[in-house]
Amino acid sequence: MEAARLDALLVVHLPNIRYLTGFSGSNALLLLEPGRAWLYTDGRYREQARLEVREAKVEIPPRGDLWKAAGRRARRHKQVGLEADHVTIAQRARWLEVWGGHEKGLRPLRGEIEALRMVKEPDEIAAIRRAVELASGGFAKLTAKLRPGMEETAAAGWLEYQLRQAGADGLAFDTILAGGAHGAQVHAHPGSAPLPQRGFVVVDYGVQLGGYCSDMTRTVHLGEPGRKARAVYATVLEAQMAAIAAVKPGAASAAVDRAARRVIQKAGWGAYFPHSTGHGVGLEIHEAPRLGATSKERLAAGQVITIEPGIYIPGWGGVRIEDVVVVTERGAEVLTPTPKQLLRL
Ligand code: ZN
Ligand code: ZN
Repeated sequence: MEAARLDALLVVHLPNIRYLTGFSGSNALLLLEPGRAWLYTDGRYREQARLEVREAKVEIPPRGDLWKAAGRRARRHKQVGLEADHVTIAQRARWLEVWGGHEKGLRPLRGEIEALRMVKEPDEIAAIRRAVELASGGFAKLTAKLRPGMEETAAAGWLEYQLRQAGADGLAFDTILAGGAHGAQVHAHPGSAPLPQRGFVVVDYGVQLGGYCSDMTRTVHLGEPGRKARAVYATVLEAQMAAIAAVKPGAASAAVDRAARRVIQKAGWGAYFPHSTGHGVGLEIHEAPRLGATSKERLAAGQVITIEPGIYIPGWGGVRIEDVVVVTERGAEVLTPTPKQLLRL
């Protein structure tokens, strides 16, 4: 705030509010002043806020008008920061109205709090490790059940049930489980199609545990894999290992992407790898840094990222392998314990 010459900062993005205060409810504003903080929420969260919030004074404004209450508190400030990536046009107009300051005093912030979140504290890494290990345990339960002819939705449902039984607070995102040609869609939603007698099944899923997300992908083969299937799988695995080997403090995110992409391009499937190699994971399933060809960030120890190259061939199928990786002082630690050799079911 000092560097940005702000008198106050209004935080609206809930994961940022959770990061700064511990509050996990679904409705809140956080107003920061140098040395002081106010968290505004509504009556549903009175008890939860009392238990969760540290370092901020909790206020429950009448009629649930959080904006008005925060605006009134900020009246005496001239320079107020707003999170440009998270405030709608309507909210910006409302803020000007309740705060009563001049438009010129509104300072857009972009990614400053997210940059703080990018490097994890040891207890955050421990929380992610717990989420990753819980999710990984569900994979063996899935493969014990997965058979040709099973519907994708039923398979995804079985997996999700196991994760909840194992103690997951919830899912980190909608499970992707796609068999055969359906797996050529990077973000396929499980459908009523039966899994093929012979072909790949891509399974990409994650849990939330203690507020933190996990994210993993494994691709298994139903029936005997042919030559092409073996070659595609071996290429994706080699690309994934090459990217992990490139992870270390100071490495450019783009270089990690390049390490994976080079392997896939050399094998002739470069056109079939349409997404970036990975992303940060934490309170949100996708957060900074991004590991793509155009990424500008450099990796730093304490960051937690995914490494997830893939090959997707229309009409045929897809293969993706994804682990969660911690950037350490020396290089990388892979948190995901699930084996990666080609599994035939
Ligand atoms: Zn994933
Ligand atoms: Zn991912």
